[in-house]
Amino acid sequence: MIALAEHTLDELSEAVQKLGEQKYRAKQLMRHIAAYDSFDEYTDIPKSLIAKLKECYLDRALTEQTRVTASDGAVRYLFRTADGDLIESVFLPHDYGNSVCVSCQVGCGMGCTFCASGHYGLQRNLTAGEILSQVLYIARDKRSEGGVNKIVMMGSGEPLANYDNTLKFLRLVNAEYGLNIGMRSISLSTCGLPDGIRALYRDGITCTLSLSLHAATDEKRKKIMRIAEKYTVKQLIAALAEYFRVTGRRVVIEYILIGGFNDGESDASALKNLLKGLCCHVNLIPLNKTEYCDLNAPSKKRAYAFCEKLNGLGVSASVRRSMGSDVAGACGQLKNRTFEQAEHTE
Ligand code: SF4
Repeated sequence: MIALAEHTLDELSEAVQKLGEQKYRAKQLMRHIAAYDSFDEYTDIPKSLIAKLKECYLDRALTEQTRVTASDGAVRYLFRTADGDLIESVFLPHDYGNSVCVSCQVGCGMGCTFCASGHYGLQRNLTAGEILSQVLYIARDKRSEGGVNKIVMMGSGEPLANYDNTLKFLRLVNAEYGLNIGMRSISLSTCGLPDGIRALYRDGITCTLSLSLHAATDEKRKKIMRIAEKYTVKQLIAALAEYFRVTGRRVVIEYILIGGFNDGESDASALKNLLKGLCCHVNLIPLNKTEYCDLNAPSKKRAYAFCEKLNGLGVSASVRRSMGSDVAGACGQLKNRTFEQAEHTE
């Protein structure tokens, strides 16, 4: 049985007609899906249709297992899927609106050395409805605080390694009949799959695209990111340049600062040379240490010196705050930070 949230409006129209109902019922149903209502709340839908729906569909894809709230209002939710997998999402309140960081896979197969999600490997892809339901649930839960205005695909998993579900999710969450969240309010973070990047713009996606680069040379990147064995940094930058050319969206380079590894003068110069001509901004994120790696963050002074060096070389860059609610963290780092902060306030 699948959840109703798996369907687009067209698919739902077809489905209700197959159940012998009028097409317009699909729009009514969509309003309940977007509100994350239970079948009990479908008060404008005939009981006969609800009975038919119950035979084929779940009203909700996820149930909350637990949550942890951090001192800055960030909330970590642990959800259970219908088949019993556990996934995590993070709510991040800001003065300028609320964000939700979603997971797109159970675990992750990319194996970045600094990431807790990658440590356990990939268990399965999440469906579009399961990714969407993380946002729907939290939007309902936080309705009195303004709901959800922005989405960050930066939780567990590599979005472009689960391309079809990611694409459908982006279309569903962007749809007028859904939460209608604009592409400019959605960020997708990838560890670097050039074919997936090209597929995004070919499919008309214009969200903010962030590349977790973390090292400016293939040699260094291979030491911390398995994906670097497959694609060179030049291939990635070429794909980003095409993304910018087609969408007009400035891309984001995420660069986790690892003390004594990628934060020296030669690293800044290599980064400058690599990014020459690319319309981008570099987010420098001091490493958030996990128990799975023995890498360390640089001192604050060294992190800011690296940033100044980049700025001096003409590269737009800034250091991100080390807070759980900093949505511009890197894949695998945001989640760790939020959890770390939340756990300290329990
Ligand atoms: S950092 Fe992102 S891509 Fe890398 S293992 Fe973690 S979740 Fe996967």
